[in-house]
Amino acid sequence: STAPSIMTMNGHFAAVGEAPTKEQYELGIQVIDEEQAFTPHLNTYLQITGAAQSGFNYHLISVFGSQSTGKSTLLNNLFGTEFGVMSETERRQTTKGIWMSNNKREGGSGPEKMAENILVMDVEGTDGRERGEDQDFERKSALFALATSEVLIVNIWEHQVGLYQGANMGLLKTVFEVNLQLFLKDKQSNPRSLLFFVIRDHIGATPLSNLRNTLIADLTNIWTSLSKPKGLEKSKIEDYFDFAFAALPHKILQPDKFVTEVERLGTRFRVGHRSAKSHGLHSDHELEGGVFLPEYHRRIPADGFSVYAEGIWDQIVNNKDLDLPTQQELLAQFRCDEISREVLEAFDATILPLEEKQAEGVRLGKPTVLKNLGISGKAARVKTVKAFETEASRYHKGVYTRKRVELEGKIDIRLKALYQGQLTAAHKSGVASFSDAVAGAVKIGQKKGASYEFADIVEREKAVALEQFESEAKSLAIEGVPWSNFKQQYSLYEKDLDEVSARLRKEEMRRLATRVERWVRSRLGESVGLEFNKLGSGRGGSGAPETGEKPLTEKDLWDRIWNVFIATVKEAETRFVERAKSFDASQDEIDVGLWRLRRKSWGVLRAKIDEEVMEGNILLKLRENFEDKFRYDEAGVPRIWRPTDDIEGMYTKAKESTLTLIPLLSRFRLAATYAPPELPDWIGNAPASVDPKDEEDLTPIGGVDEEEGKSLEEEMTILGEAKRQDLVVRFKKTADGVYVEAKRSAIGGVAQ
Ligand code: GDP
Ligand code: MG
Repeated sequence: STAPSIMTMNGHFAAVGEAPTKEQYELGIQVIDEEQAFTPHLNTYLQITGAAQSGFNYHLISVFGSQSTGKSTLLNNLFGTEFGVMSETERRQTTKGIWMSNNKREGGSGPEKMAENILVMDVEGTDGRERGEDQDFERKSALFALATSEVLIVNIWEHQVGLYQGANMGLLKTVFEVNLQLFLKDKQSNPRSLLFFVIRDHIGATPLSNLRNTLIADLTNIWTSLSKPKGLEKSKIEDYFDFAFAALPHKILQPDKFVTEVERLGTRFRVGHRSAKSHGLHSDHELEGGVFLPEYHRRIPADGFSVYAEGIWDQIVNNKDLDLPTQQELLAQFRCDEISREVLEAFDATILPLEEKQAEGVRLGKPTVLKNLGISGKAARVKTVKAFETEASRYHKGVYTRKRVELEGKIDIRLKALYQGQLTAAHKSGVASFSDAVAGAVKIGQKKGASYEFADIVEREKAVALEQFESEAKSLAIEGVPWSNFKQQYSLYEKDLDEVSARLRKEEMRRLATRVERWVRSRLGESVGLEFNKLGSGRGGSGAPETGEKPLTEKDLWDRIWNVFIATVKEAETRFVERAKSFDASQDEIDVGLWRLRRKSWGVLRAKIDEEVMEGNILLKLRENFEDKFRYDEAGVPRIWRPTDDIEGMYTKAKESTLTLIPLLSRFRLAATYAPPELPDWIGNAPASVDPKDEEDLTPIGGVDEEEGKSLEEEMTILGEAKRQDLVVRFKKTADGVYVEAKRSAIGGVAQ
């Protein structure tokens, strides 16, 4: 198949093996060569001539007839083509094969104007029988022509008409046979063809109508004599063919007349319409109607013609059963895939940069919300599907529909991934800005000092965050595409916002708890300090006996501390609950908060007591207590010691009295029960919703946190045994010092 390009007088045809350049297609293309090879460049040729872009608006004509009956001459005159013509002097055979050229003539004007995109096939070497060759190529080319062409021109000498046994009739028999073979498989579309008889060297003695009748009689005979395949026994010739007839004068003898008649014949090659009576043998095509009836068209879109024709030829050459519907489906699959790839390339050009940008964001840990993704995604989708539809919908409907679904699937897989990435990014950035916005608003609220409403802030910012996400999700929605409604992503997002609000509220609760604890600390600092200060007064009174208030005794110390403690915490709880409710805390959260508050408050109290009983502090209190008892009389007047006074007795009494305070101070006990307060009951059990991880800052409390191995008794022990004894010793020394001083002053007073 490396045949050289074929030179004619005026230019050159592209041979099958030839690389395509525009010049080489000048005159046409050798579709099938002598070796029966099919050109790989047919599509290029159709592109160059513009026929490939014509959709269904193109027409195919093939010419048949014995060798050297002036077929090529006819085509060249009709269509301005330059098919090889046997030289009149050399009588050399032209190259066997099928040649194609586009129509080069305008052919008339107005309603007579020739149809657009006429492609002509010149079939050379179909008269093998004349040369004693087998009829293999004749059969093959007839099949090929029938499978592709709307009009078959049958070229015949006038003197051959009526020669039933002649070569022409053999050829027609072959045409009819292969036609039956072909359309046995294609009952649904049942395409018809026009057999256009052009009678050459018409002398004029016999009118065309007579020639026509003779031919029709012959054709009917041939048809009758055919052995028809099963199921088609009763078929008639007019089920498959329409007929038209034309006669041309002798080209050499009547050259002028020949030219005018050819000119007139040329105007027949336009789109025609069937009239009521014109059918089969009775068709009126021999009159002036256009020959291209829409029903002759094989409905192969021009951009798929080369693939289709090659497929057909491949089946023919390999002697396979030619099944046109299957070929059309195969073509549709091939072309739809090709078109799909093409349109996906354009889709890629838009989508790939977006996918890359998104992937980059993910890689850097900063998910990007791509701007106007919904708009560009949707536009790319519509554009791609539309482009596919424009080209591919011309092909086999079933295949087209399936391939369209496939294409949409491919597009949607990409878009879905992209959109989900987009929503993931929107989700992340939305949650982050929500969290920031709430924190920011709280900070401003705190700065202003006004009591900001946490719940309102959350509600407001949540609405903003949801609105943003929703509008992004909505912009991505594609009508009629269920995966694009993103309802699930929306509810996941809302859930995350709620989780963030819960976390923020928890932080807010902690801040509130800290404020309330601080308040408890300062209140207890004062009130407990006051109670310990009272120890310094040895008379145990509050210093206001005239009010009738029950005089306080040292034994009440812990009762008073406990009472002031629980009263303070109660007040703190009220404050806490009020505020927590204002920011929509749940009862659970409030319960946890209160439980923590009680525990922490106990810790505050315990720390305050420890501070009060620190060595120096308590020793000072005991000394004051002792001095009050020792150095003041019942009326609170300072004693002036005289030598006669029972200093020793009073010293012993006061000392013993103050010493009783040490065991009292050592344990936190209530007077009535002589037992520690019911601290575990008062604190209460940990609420079920307490997360131990969150409570690591809590100090264990003896008797409450049993697993800590510290009993309530131990928790309530203020001074351990060693400290107590040490305190006794130190206090005694201090008391002794005071006694010695008193003694001295008594003597000194006398001396003065
Ligand atoms: P093809 O083999 O059928 O394509 O025939 P060609 O077109 O190559 O022509 C074969 C010969 O017939 C050439 O020598 C032509 O000059 C000659 N020829 C062409 N047209 C006519 C015609 O209308 N009448 C006659 N008698 N000869 C013609
Ligand atoms: Mg020829």
